[in-house]
Amino acid sequence: MTASEVTASPASYKDTLNLLQTPFNMRANAKQREPEIQNFWAQQQLYERLSQAPGGESFTLHDGPPYANGALHVGHALNKILKDIINKYALLQGKRARFIPGWDCHGLPIELKVLQALSSSERQALTPISLRQKAHAYALEQVEGQKTGFRRWGIWADWDQPYLTLNKDYEAAQIGVFGQMVLAGHIYRGLKPVHWSPSSRTALAEAELEYPDGHTSPSVYVAFAVRELPGPLAAKLAATGLLQDTGLLQDTGLPQDTAPAPGGLAVAIWTTTPWTLPANLAVSVNGSLDYAICRVSVPPAAPAGEGPEAAPSARPSHLLVAKDLIASLETSLGLGLEPLLTLKGSELEGIVYQHPLFERSSPVVLGGDYITTETGTGLVHTAPGHGVDDFNTGKTYGLPVLCPVDEAGNLTAEAGPFAGTNVLKDANGAIIAALQEAGALLAEQRYAHRYPYDWRTKKPTIFRATEQWFASVEGFRSQALAAIDAVTWTPESGQNRIEAMVRDRGDWCISRQRTWGVPIPVFYHRETSEVLVNADTLAHIQALIAEQGSDVWWQREEAGLLPPAYADQAHLWRKGTDTMDVWFDSGSSWAGVLGGLAAANVGTSASNIARAAYPADLYLEGSDQHRGWFQSSLLTSVAVHGQAPYKRVLTHGFVLDEKGRKMSKSLGNVVDPAILVEGGNNEKQEPAYGADVLRLWVSSVDYSADVPLGPGIVKQLADVYRKVRNTARYLLGNLHDFDPRPQAEGGHAIAIEELPLLDRWMLQRTAALIDGVQADFESYEFYRFFQALQNFCVVDLSNVYLDIAKDRLYVSAAGSLRRRSCQTVLALVVERLAGLIAPVLCHMAEDIWQNLPYPVAEASVFERGWPTVPSSWRDTSLEAPLGEILALRAQVNRQLEACRKQGGKAAGIGASLEAQVQLELAPGEGTAALRQALALLEASPHPSVDNLADWLLVSAVQFGGQAPEALLAEASDNGVTVRIARAEGSKCERCWHYESDVAEHQLSATAAGQICGRCRSTLEG
Ligand SMILES: [Zn+2]
Repeated sequence: MTASEVTASPASYKDTLNLLQTPFNMRANAKQREPEIQNFWAQQQLYERLSQAPGGESFTLHDGPPYANGALHVGHALNKILKDIINKYALLQGKRARFIPGWDCHGLPIELKVLQALSSSERQALTPISLRQKAHAYALEQVEGQKTGFRRWGIWADWDQPYLTLNKDYEAAQIGVFGQMVLAGHIYRGLKPVHWSPSSRTALAEAELEYPDGHTSPSVYVAFAVRELPGPLAAKLAATGLLQDTGLLQDTGLPQDTAPAPGGLAVAIWTTTPWTLPANLAVSVNGSLDYAICRVSVPPAAPAGEGPEAAPSARPSHLLVAKDLIASLETSLGLGLEPLLTLKGSELEGIVYQHPLFERSSPVVLGGDYITTETGTGLVHTAPGHGVDDFNTGKTYGLPVLCPVDEAGNLTAEAGPFAGTNVLKDANGAIIAALQEAGALLAEQRYAHRYPYDWRTKKPTIFRATEQWFASVEGFRSQALAAIDAVTWTPESGQNRIEAMVRDRGDWCISRQRTWGVPIPVFYHRETSEVLVNADTLAHIQALIAEQGSDVWWQREEAGLLPPAYADQAHLWRKGTDTMDVWFDSGSSWAGVLGGLAAANVGTSASNIARAAYPADLYLEGSDQHRGWFQSSLLTSVAVHGQAPYKRVLTHGFVLDEKGRKMSKSLGNVVDPAILVEGGNNEKQEPAYGADVLRLWVSSVDYSADVPLGPGIVKQLADVYRKVRNTARYLLGNLHDFDPRPQAEGGHAIAIEELPLLDRWMLQRTAALIDGVQADFESYEFYRFFQALQNFCVVDLSNVYLDIAKDRLYVSAAGSLRRRSCQTVLALVVERLAGLIAPVLCHMAEDIWQNLPYPVAEASVFERGWPTVPSSWRDTSLEAPLGEILALRAQVNRQLEACRKQGGKAAGIGASLEAQVQLELAPGEGTAALRQALALLEASPHPSVDNLADWLLVSAVQFGGQAPEALLAEASDNGVTVRIARAEGSKCERCWHYESDVAEHQLSATAAGQICGRCRSTLEG
């Protein structure tokens, strides 16, 4: 039905009103409508056209690759939608924001998935190349699954040309980065203790470790009997009488024999890894700490049966411990410790002790500040093969790197009687028993502490010295720190985090003993183990991989991998079997995707519109990536170019449930984004909220910290979504008969300067909203946009402007200035509202655009670009006076509300139009601003719009004079007295106003009623 059809023969006055007409649905019907809109974008090639439009400034948000394994979770949603909001805003700003999505495809989890899917016989028949092919296929399948999910969220990207770390060109670029680092001297091979996972049988990077709660280790206090004292120390002990008095020496003939008797003096150490004791090669002390030689006694009060059962004859009579720890050690050891002589740590260097389990003696050495008196004894058991500090201290003293543990965590023959025991299983027990037997065990207790686990197998790791490839961070640390300083970190605390991590980190172990990855492209001499890697071999292998992919490393023999110059000696070389740390894969994306290596070689060419630029404008990932991708990308880029691969880094927190707990299956608090968007099996319980509600959530949270999500929050967001949608629907629905061309061109639009005050105020508010939201997007504070949008829709539009506008839109003659001026504003506002919400509520924005009831030049809201307003909209001088009148409106509404709730004489006041209002303003400064505002209203050339009764939605307003009879309410506030009474006259059946000129009217042959003079002239006009 069209308006003209109903007015031809109206059956009631309702049919004579200009009612809402729009196909824009109140209900989103997102499950069907969002994919339709996405298809429209695809048909229009909207993203492709906008992101490649010539002339625009380029903007590169470089995607951190998610791991190609598993279903998408809300963490993915937070990450990718944030990126999409930023990109869509950039596109609306006319920037070429091309987004190349990526996936991290190599590594152990995928290798394990493939292995787990095989039977044991299949596994045995598996060759490295067939394993790699299966892993390749698995990764691609996972990529497709995740891609479908991302696209459903309305994410715009080069979905048909993503970057995969398994792509040939990517792998070749990665080899290029490795090669540049080799040639710059930043890569070396060395024996070094690294985090080693016996369960995965590989070295792990820091980023692959996790520290679960509740780990305890079997900690032991052990006595190492002193065999020799350095000369000065022996002299000091002799001078104080300690050697003789305590019977430390059986023979006192100094200096020929400075050896105390067995069972005399011992150094006490403490360790939480008894299995490392076979590798003990020193005891380290802190040179600046105080130590004490203590006489040992068994307190008579000690109940029998407690404490270690060391044979009394073997227990040392004197222990050397840190002075500050004496009291706590008395408790831990269940022994009395009477300090006899205090010594500086530096005086202890050179003491020689007997290993309690092996026929060898080792020195006391000076370690560093890592030796403290927080726990233990202040003397540190040192096994250079099993700890980084130990390794460094050992290096200073030229100690060997003894590592009697194999890759499965079994002790080797070098561990003597303990060979074959496993360091995470039975080795500790066997060694503790042997210590007990030897009388060296002082005490044993479980000790709870942070302990690194393999993040994939969830099993404990160990420190183990192995031959590995390293990136020497020391070689470019100062450059890395300078590069960090040149980047903008948001939030700023990110800078301190990554700076501390880079400042304190050791060299980066980049080799892994796995099959599914990019090879470390080196050769070893079959006899001498000499390493072959140089510009020639690197360039050759890089070219091979660019052509054939990294499988070529496993497919070919050495002769097929070495450059021609080595053809005659191929038989001398053996190709390496290590793969690269996957963090090196993703950390090379500035080369593999941003073209960072090419840029260095050929310089930046202005004519070359690349898909992405190095360095990127922005990296955006979770805050854990200071340790991961932000850092690995920084290190490789700095090592090659001396600069960071990004100009700015933005981080987001993690998604928790509504109570701030981690989401987990066991807690049942997991929000599945697929169900949130598409609904669950039972849509009554799990409705399909659509991608826009998920996107609205992302915009609503302050992502600089961890963010909550749960059913309650989703419901609230769905409410906000509906409010915005209904507001848009109201705007669209009142434009069905509106032609937005100026009147001079045959349309209906009223010139801005000719609009009533109320309309100009609405445009000023819209201009202010656009300014504010633009600033929020520029500062990446989307939650401010979310708040501003809600406020605009609910307060400025629904509660004020549209509330007052109802009478203008419905009751006035369709073509009257009173209505056309309002429609002019609605059209201007709805087009801008669509643009403002487009980065976040992209589907709704497009839906609004598609439902504009008049032709527009742009097929899509995204082609219109970011909303702007002409200067004629801006009139900040309206804000204060209109604010005064709106405050008065709120005051009157409170009284009307009071009348509605009241019984008795006020009973029957329903709609505010049933009321009349009398206002009395106290004289003086207090009401001066309101008086001025009312004067402005009074002076408006459009009294049919700018009149207070209409703005208050009452039938009459009277200033001062005699109070109406039968007052229903009266209240004073801030010098304004508001009195409410029932409106005089009778109700017009058409506009519901109470007027004195209401009279009988014949609507049609069959209908008649009582209507007011205004309505009569509208119908007859
Ligand atoms: Zn009327």
